[in-house]
Amino acid sequence: MSKPKIVVLGAGYAGMMTTKRLLQKLSAEEAEIVLVNKHNYHYQTTWLHEVAAGTIDPNRSRIMISDVINPNRVSIVEDTVEKIDPDQKKVQLTNGEMDYDYLVIGLGFEKATFGIPGMAEHALSIQSVDKSRYIRDHIEHQFARYHNGESDKDELLTIVVGGSGFTGIEFVGELAERVPQLCRKYDIDPSKPRIINIEGASSILPGFDEDLINYGQKSLEDRGVEFKFNTFIKECTEDSVIFGDDREEIKAGTIVWTGGVQANSIIGESGFELTKGKVNVDTDLRSPQYDDVFILGDCAWVMNKETGRPYAPTAQIAIQEADVASANLAALIRGGALKEFVFDNKGTVASLGGRHAMGSIFDGKQLYGFSAKMMKNIIDDRYLFLLGGPGLVLRKGKFKPF
Ligand code: FAD
Ligand code: NAD
Repeated sequence: MSKPKIVVLGAGYAGMMTTKRLLQKLSAEEAEIVLVNKHNYHYQTTWLHEVAAGTIDPNRSRIMISDVINPNRVSIVEDTVEKIDPDQKKVQLTNGEMDYDYLVIGLGFEKATFGIPGMAEHALSIQSVDKSRYIRDHIEHQFARYHNGESDKDELLTIVVGGSGFTGIEFVGELAERVPQLCRKYDIDPSKPRIINIEGASSILPGFDEDLINYGQKSLEDRGVEFKFNTFIKECTEDSVIFGDDREEIKAGTIVWTGGVQANSIIGESGFELTKGKVNVDTDLRSPQYDDVFILGDCAWVMNKETGRPYAPTAQIAIQEADVASANLAALIRGGALKEFVFDNKGTVASLGGRHAMGSIFDGKQLYGFSAKMMKNIIDDRYLFLLGGPGLVLRKGKFKPF
């Protein structure tokens, strides 16, 4: 009898860690494992705000898949998923077709623009290494234009960020560090650039701990970030955003949308039922429609039974889901009971640029400044250790607080 074939789509946190765990749980005789990804590298999505601001080199966030996943055990396919046919158990790729016995979907997120006119077309988004590097280059180009004969156009130096969720806040924190460097590089008066963050709710990080919100907002304002709260962006044009009921307009050389995410659109286009942009998975992380398909990470909602609401999609939860999904795949192949996913929330830490950070960990203990930044680095380094052992931590890890 031929071995069952497990196909993992997407080499993000969910896909990489599922593959890694499958290698530990199943022998080469028990299953064939295939990992399909757009690129031959994995990237640290959690560092993309730094890539986008230009505070780290894009290559720092990339890891060659074959450096951490044994290519003798896993077929690593560099291709783009176009569509999934779960009834026929087939995946359509740009360069061919692939069948499977078990499928793991970890294709990540896309920006959700909620039908705001012009947002999808004109705003940039922090979504992949390539798109983040483009933001970095675009901002620098605007500063270079200002320096090279367009100094009558102050708006070139205005950066508007839509949404004060974690991505927006971490990004403006990096910008607060990067913009003064660009001013020095292009001989620009540091009082000219503006970093404006527009949020529909009444504060940054709606729903987060109030002390941390106040701390984070002050830290960012002290470094020049301007906030506009209680005001929704209504429209985005090529060179401006329009917001609020009286449709105020700000001209900007750079507009970045961090107002929300949804599952990769391939999921909906492939016939999986979506609730608010993602699939509500069963407690064993399988699709309610197809019991040979696991849906993980930012493509899925996992319900928090205590609150009756889904957990926020994060790298932390994606990594934990990979443990349960791989154990359940092993159980399906060998026989045995499937595990229920239980999220072990270790807290949230947000970087605010440079040596600034804040967070709430374990039993609600709050961290600020240096200790929060160190904790953020420890979280990042722990993931690198899980993925590639001490060698990867030494090559890519973060050791200094800034
Ligand atoms: P991803 O990590 O996004 O991976 C998806 C993979 O699928 C990618 O490799 C992509 O190339 C590949 N792919 C996509 N489409 C295709 C296709 N059609 N064909 C083939 N391959 C494809 N969470 C935290 O817990 N802590 C943090 O500090 C944190 N910081 C963040 C900072 C930023 C700037 C952002 C944007 C998010 C952050 N998050 C953080 C959230 C976290 O990054 C996501 O929840 C996490 O990346 C989800 O993992 P995933 O495996 O589902 O998707
Ligand atoms: P989000 O959905 O968490 O935040 C979007 C923000 O945009 C919200 O505050 C919302 O009120 C605001 N918004 C929406 N429409 C708007 C409009 N028209 N005008 C103005 N404001 C508007 O999205 P995100 O920040 O990209 O985060 C996505 C996921 O990634 C979350 O689960 C988050 O927890 C996770 N993440 C975690 C970290 C971390 O742990 N450090 C960092 C980044 C992202």
